[in-house]
Amino acid sequence: MSDRPVVTRIAPSPTGSMHIGTARTALFNWLYARHTGGKFLLRVEDTDRERSTQGAVEVIFEGMKWLGLDVDEEPVFQFARADRHVLAAQDLLAKGRAYRCYMTIEETAAEREIARAEGRAIRSPWRDAEANFNDRPYVVRFKGPQDGETVVHDRVKGDVSFKNKDLDDLILLRTDGTPTYNLAVVVDDHEMGVTHVIRGDDHLNNAARQTLIYEALGWDVPIWAHLPMIHGPDGAKLSKRHGAQAVGEFDEMGYLPEAMRNYLARLGWGHGNDELFSDEQAISWFELEDVVSAPARLDWDKLNHINNHYLRLADIDRLAGLVTKVHSSRDLHLAEGDAAILSRTIPLVRDGAKTTLDLADATVFALKRRPLELPEKIRGLLSDETRARLSRLRDRLAGQGDWTVADLEGLLRGFAESEGVGLGKIGPALRGVLSGGSPAPDLAGALVSLGKEESLGRLDDALSQPA
Ligand code: GLU
Repeated sequence: MSDRPVVTRIAPSPTGSMHIGTARTALFNWLYARHTGGKFLLRVEDTDRERSTQGAVEVIFEGMKWLGLDVDEEPVFQFARADRHVLAAQDLLAKGRAYRCYMTIEETAAEREIARAEGRAIRSPWRDAEANFNDRPYVVRFKGPQDGETVVHDRVKGDVSFKNKDLDDLILLRTDGTPTYNLAVVVDDHEMGVTHVIRGDDHLNNAARQTLIYEALGWDVPIWAHLPMIHGPDGAKLSKRHGAQAVGEFDEMGYLPEAMRNYLARLGWGHGNDELFSDEQAISWFELEDVVSAPARLDWDKLNHINNHYLRLADIDRLAGLVTKVHSSRDLHLAEGDAAILSRTIPLVRDGAKTTLDLADATVFALKRRPLELPEKIRGLLSDETRARLSRLRDRLAGQGDWTVADLEGLLRGFAESEGVGLGKIGPALRGVLSGGSPAPDLAGALVSLGKEESLGRLDDALSQPA
């Protein structure tokens, strides 16, 4: 098995959102495929017809695209493959490894009660009956071994044994002939050539059942790697109260996909103490053996730290585009020239930003339209003396050619000196007049963000308002 090229897959069920755990599983499969030079595939497990709407499927495609996890073949849709699943069930029937079970719903419920009381798996009286009625409804059940053990050799968990007597004879085909989950997964993974099944450890029990089905069909059992769950910061199962759970929510909260990849890679896997690494590094380092088996905990501080790192690395035009989207979602629509303002402002504010929402907050001041409405607190700063000073500063600024942070810092220092006061005497009022009271970078930074014309204009507006 190990000499075959690696094929991994992500097999999400469309539910309307893409859970962060699914994103992490997709990432690990992608990393492993890229690490080994293998293939990474996508299978949409759309057998629940009510939930698997076009919209719910789109959410998965969009989530994968946003995360930057490219797949190597066209996606496979599980529902469309039902015929293949049925063929496999028929094969198992022919091999004597499955049987028709005619238990009614009531009989099954009664058997379930007794089995529970006796602490064993349910058994069907039809298991060894070899009966074939054509006029009675039946399900097709797998004929599992009743003694011995099934061992799941897992790359993350080690060998995990399951007593066969605890595994009931799984239904393969329902009364209406439709295949069940465990059968479909085995047939699809086999026919897609999947060599490594890397998924959440909530599927570990299924791995035992699926191992038995593989063996009964005479197929190679894939290599299993069951990943620890992602828990909330408090160690409890991840839920709504921990904040975001879906990929789309992280996008809306202003996290960058490359930051998510870096962060998610560290949820359950790691390379020494490395916290920040590129995709290339993760790909070259990623080994299943380094996945830890204990649950991982979502840590917002770490995610914010990582996102800040990638915000500082990101292309400014790209960030300007993302920030523009945030502004328009808040009904702040950009006018001509505003894109240039954003491009000047973002480099000055991104060091302190955790998300693109922070970037949006930090750029609002620069997008305001003249004349700015000055809050009472700022108007209170505009004494006659301060006005006179700001007016002299205005003239000095008007005569300034180069409009860089360094030039303007020099100008402001020189001006304060010539006035015989500290910068603290001018700073708050100037800042207020330029920002209208919204968060803004340092004085020189605010002037650079706004540009010369807008800066002078805002000063003029404030100075022409009655005291
Ligand atoms: N469709 C399953 C899920 O969404 C995954 C099945 C698998 O990975 O084998 O949890």
